[in-house]
Amino acid sequence: MQKKHHLCRDNDTKGARELGIVEAEGIITREIKYGDSSRILTILTKEFGKISVLAGGVRTNKSGLLAATQLFSHVSLQLFKGREKSLYKINSGEIVTSFSGIRESLEKMAYASYFCEVANDVIQENAPDMEQLNLLLNTLFLLSQDKLPYTQIKGVFEFRTLALQGLLPDLSVCDQCGNSPTVFFCPSEASCYCASCGDTRAATDTIHAGEAVLSAISYITLAESKKVFAFTLPESSCNYLSKLGEYCLTYYLERQFQTLNYLNKVCALGG
Ligand SMILES: [Zn+2]
Repeated sequence: MQKKHHLCRDNDTKGARELGIVEAEGIITREIKYGDSSRILTILTKEFGKISVLAGGVRTNKSGLLAATQLFSHVSLQLFKGREKSLYKINSGEIVTSFSGIRESLEKMAYASYFCEVANDVIQENAPDMEQLNLLLNTLFLLSQDKLPYTQIKGVFEFRTLALQGLLPDLSVCDQCGNSPTVFFCPSEASCYCASCGDTRAATDTIHAGEAVLSAISYITLAESKKVFAFTLPESSCNYLSKLGEYCLTYYLERQFQTLNYLNKVCALGG
């Protein structure tokens, strides 16, 4: 759903003329309360990678900017800095896509928070990453629209993120004999094996992921970005893909994500 409306100016435009106003389009991935009525937003942008923006006094909507500063929204903002090292401030802004469907349930909010925390981890300041940003956009869109099982959306996001960050090779061919299909996966070596070669590796951390899941992972790794979600798997395989995805993501990124712990709690409560 497209919502476009111009919003009134933030009252603090001091210094805007000195450093100029910049346009930035991106996704609001995090917000922290700051003082009584302000928030510091993390925004993953097309133009500058990850940025921090001070949204002053917009918790009360008096400035009219509340809508364009909502978490998980895809927004287009005009920003300025008072000084070189200070945070960006918002001059004006509009919503490109609100993804309002995400706010319909605690579960979807928890998924979105996790996707955003991961994206915040891999996209750096002054390093725009359009592929990763588009992946996050498509992921939030599908989540907001209930187009696919959440576990499939999550698994695709996790494995595609690893592929985009160069941390996951193509898993379609056995590393030992070169045959397909592969059914075994060894996360510590990022390698995979066919049924007969994998059987000889029982003592290692090689796991039997199965042909359906491994072929889904190689599809996710190699597909064009527009088609990366376009496959079907039985529910049990989607669940496995999702569990393997979070295992691999935390393992390869060497990170623990607080939002993932929260997501798993929310999912456990939801049954
Ligand atoms: Zn083999």
